[in-house]
Parts: sequence; structure tokens; C-alpha cells
Amino acid sequence: MALIVQKFGGSSVANPDRIKNVAARVAKYHGQGDQIVVVVSAMSGVTDNLIRMAREIMPLPSEREMDMLLATGEQTTIALTAIALHALGVPACSMTGAQAGIVTDGVHSKAKIRNITPKHVHQLLDEGNVVIVAGFQGQTMEGQITTLGRGGSDLTAIALASALKADLCQIYTDVDGVYTADPRIVPTAKKLSEISYDEMLELAGLGAKVMQSRSVEFAKKFGVIFEVRSSLNDNPGTIVKEETLSMEGVVIRGVSLDKNQAKVTLIEVPDKPGVASRVFKAIADANLNVDMIVQNISHNAGVPATDLSFTVDKPDLLKATTVIENLKSEIGYKEVLADEKIGKLSVVGVGMRSHPGVAAKMFETLSNEGVNIEMISTSEIKISVVIALDKGEQAMKAVHAAFLG
Ligand code: ADP
Ligand code: ASP
Ligand code: MG
Repeated sequence: MALIVQKFGGSSVANPDRIKNVAARVAKYHGQGDQIVVVVSAMSGVTDNLIRMAREIMPLPSEREMDMLLATGEQTTIALTAIALHALGVPACSMTGAQAGIVTDGVHSKAKIRNITPKHVHQLLDEGNVVIVAGFQGQTMEGQITTLGRGGSDLTAIALASALKADLCQIYTDVDGVYTADPRIVPTAKKLSEISYDEMLELAGLGAKVMQSRSVEFAKKFGVIFEVRSSLNDNPGTIVKEETLSMEGVVIRGVSLDKNQAKVTLIEVPDKPGVASRVFKAIADANLNVDMIVQNISHNAGVPATDLSFTVDKPDLLKATTVIENLKSEIGYKEVLADEKIGKLSVVGVGMRSHPGVAAKMFETLSNEGVNIEMISTSEIKISVVIALDKGEQAMKAVHAAFLG
């Protein structure tokens, strides 16, 4: 008898028929004698819709109330999934994140899991139930409802698989695995049979939303091997696991495009010690993640001044510019610009460590396409560039063709 964690994303539970499909699949595994823990997301579009309604009332709503609101999306789906299993005669019981013992810190909207005490989950499983847990949510020690960041149901599934010492962790979605690029943008993208945690982590962090990047980080840290596969067919998916020697032979594993970034530029910031530290301390204090940073060389012969740009997640843009505006009198820059029309294009592969020339080939491809590079950042296994959003997909296809055919 195996213990299996199966996670179904928003499109897999988008309507009652899809939920019935999920229930049928789960019932099949349960019928074979396996213990099944199901993690579900909100029905697709529901979380976005809740956010839209809140922002219609107030542009920057309280994060505590947002978590209270967003947690309802997953709560709807757990109950409907339990009902769908009951309709098939399968004993099933739904649980909120808190009921499943998921304890988080108190950072609303991007809480980190502190620990999981799945005592009640085990009890229900031992009584023969399928246990259905609400993804994306937890509770602080003080009993406040929290959420784990967008796409956070992946994290719930992987963290539960680790806490329950599950034999298998399956992430069911609307594509049948991880591809060399988003197959909806690059039709020639190929399905990967396996990918290393580090590559998946980079792709996920750089826009391949097939997995939430924090969930991959967690899987790597706790050694949770998982499979990404389709909820619509039985094709084998992609196994995500520790790097193996054979993976080094492939220079580029995948290409990703992140359209969810925005650029903040401070014009004419005094070029003197302490300014960057002040800016990024304030940004960090507001719990905002900064990705790329570029500071130009000084201009202005008299008082040296420079332009400072950095990128943040698009939904954090208003918060970031508000933080910067509050620093204006203290720092004394000229103005702050916000640019939402950027895309971050990246190539990723562990083989890059031992193969020089990847950056040159990427930049040459972009130049041939007439695409201007605004910012660059590199790590051992990835190269990212910021480009204009309206050139993003064209650039992605060209770079994919150059490296992956
Ligand atoms: P779910 O609702 O199941 O969590 P998501 O929409 O979050 O699903 O993720 C699945 C989507 O990720 C796919 O529909 C696909 O368009 C997108 N995607 C982006 N990059 C990739 C990639 N490299 N491989 C597969 N899918 C990708
Ligand atoms: N419902 C949440 C979201 O849309 C979490 C998830 O789907 O994983 O981000
Ligand atoms: Mg997702």
C-alpha cells in the first residue's frame, strides 16, 4: 500500500465536470488500496477574481483581509471534491490548511511554512478516507489564516508529501509535463522526461509558472521527488529530482519568459555611499523581493548623480513606488519611473557551467531579431535579460530555436 499525494491545479478543477474527472482518477488509485491525500487549488480564475473585487474597493487592501478572502477559493474546491468522491461511494473528508496542521509564519500573502503536524490527516487516512486538503493556505501559531504566495498549492502538496513521508507526489496540471519552454508560446517546445531541482527552480523563478518556485526550493531541501503530469490523460510526465551526471551533457534545458515583472527607476540619485543601502533596506522592510538591479555610471559633473533601476513582481509595483516616494526627501532623487512593459527572458541549464559561449549566442540571436537588451543578470546555470514586453514572445521563440531547435 502506497501513500500518494496528488495535487490538482486550478484548470483541473475549473468546473463540476472537471472535479468529477479528478474524483474518478482519485477513486481509481483509492480502489487499488493506496492511501490518497489530494491537494486542490481554487477553481481557475477564482483567486484572480477575488483580488480584482478587493482592489475595486481599495487599491492596497489589508494583507490580513486578503488572506482571509483568498483562502475561500480553495475551501470551495475541497468541499466540492469531497462531494464528488462521495457521489462515487468513496469515503472522503476535506480539510483546511489549518485543520491539516500546516503552521506558517505571519507574513500575510507570502507566508513560509514553519512546520506541519499531520496527525489528523493520518487518522482520517487510517480510517480509509481520501483526505482533501486546501492548497495555498495555512495558519499562524496565533490562529491567523495565511496564504503561501501565488501558485502556492504546489508548495502545500510538496510540503505535505515530505511531512507524510509519501511514496509518491504527483502534480497534475493542464500540460503533460515540463517542456523546454511554455508550449503555449513556443509550439516546438519538447517535453522533458526529467529535470534537476536546480533547473526547475530557475525556470520556475523566471516565469515558467508550471511550478511555484518556492515549492521546488522546498522539494530540493527535503529531497521530495515529484512528477508533473496531466490531469486530462495518462501520459508519463516529467520527474523532478536531484541532478545526475548525465544531465550535464545538455547545455540548455529550457527557456522561460517572465511577463510578471516591472521596473522601477530612480532618476538622478545622489551617487554617494549609503544610498543603495537605504533604498533596498526600505524595499526589504516592505517584504518586497527585488530581482535585478542596475546602476548607471555617474553623470552630472557638479553633484554626482546616477540612475538606479531594479525589478519587482508586477503586483508589488505600487507598493514599491510608494516605498520609494516616501524616501524622496531623505535621499533627494529627481523622480521615480515605473515601467510595467518589460519581459524577462532567460535560458537555463546545468550544462552551462562547463560550456562557455551561451551568453554570446543568446545576445547575437536577440540582436538579429532587433531586440534591445535593457538589463542582464547571470548565475552559474542561467542568463536573464530584460527586454521590451512586446518583443518578448518573438525573442523567446528565436532563442528557443537557436538553442533547442
Ligand atoms: P495549475 O493551475 O495546474 O497550477 P498553471 O497554470 O499554474 O497550472 O501551470 C500550468 C501552465 O504552465 C501551462 O498551462 C503552461 O502554459 C505553463 N508553462 C509555462 N512554462 C512551462 C513549461 N516550461 N512547461 C510546461 N508548462 C509551462
Ligand atoms: N489559488 C492560488 C492561486 O491562484 C494558489 C494556486 O492555484 O496554487 O495562486
Ligand atoms: Mg500553478
